[in-house]
Amino acid sequence: MIDRDDLHRHLHELLEADRFKDYGPNGLQVEGKAAIHKVVTGVTASLALIDAAIAAKADAIFVHHGLFWRGQDGRLTGWLKQRVARLIQHDINLYAYHLPLDAHTSLGNNAQWGQRLGLVADARFGEQNLGSIGAAPDGLDLAGLMLAAQQASGRAPVLEPGDGRALKRIAWCSGGAQSYFEAAIAAGADVFLTGEISEPQAHYARETGVAFMACGHHASERYGAQAVGDYLAARLGLQHQFMDIDNPA
Ligand SMILES: [Zn+2]
Repeated sequence: MIDRDDLHRHLHELLEADRFKDYGPNGLQVEGKAAIHKVVTGVTASLALIDAAIAAKADAIFVHHGLFWRGQDGRLTGWLKQRVARLIQHDINLYAYHLPLDAHTSLGNNAQWGQRLGLVADARFGEQNLGSIGAAPDGLDLAGLMLAAQQASGRAPVLEPGDGRALKRIAWCSGGAQSYFEAAIAAGADVFLTGEISEPQAHYARETGVAFMACGHHASERYGAQAVGDYLAARLGLQHQFMDIDNPA
């Protein structure tokens, strides 16, 4: 068992939350009961995840995508009201860590996804150093990397193959980091993997020769929250259950 505020302090320190400029508040977003025995982790604080956590008798939920983002108008109506009401009805704490969870060097989304792709970062790039880059494993070509990405995310990535150059440096950044492509190119990448592609990246890939791979936003961010939950179970003796709410993105 851990006290709600002690868990907050622990997570904040572990994930170095104060280091980041983010799009929403990191930490305890909805306050629930004081004593926490069981934590459910997931990617997004969706109604489906909240309901699954209630069914699992969780005292707290830990997610990557919380409820509150810059640009919202602040009204608790519609879907947002439903989610908040359900949490409060059941007195469940909601902890959300966005960029700090992407970035953590061992438990973070990038580190965990990279591990499943067989990649090791030796440098960082891009805004707030969120991108990871490292040497390509010996003999790995684009087809091999496609296969590894497909195995990690359970779906075929969207590929813009570039000019077919040999892979020496591989850059990656989980989630919706397509805007990091130019920074990855500047950092010396031969291929960049992220969750999503937008219209401009296809042209950048064709014109610079650097390959671009979109592997799924949810699919590439499935691992950080899970790793933090396992860490909490090992370190603090909390019960932990990861809930993967399927998402085509
Ligand atoms: Zn995300």
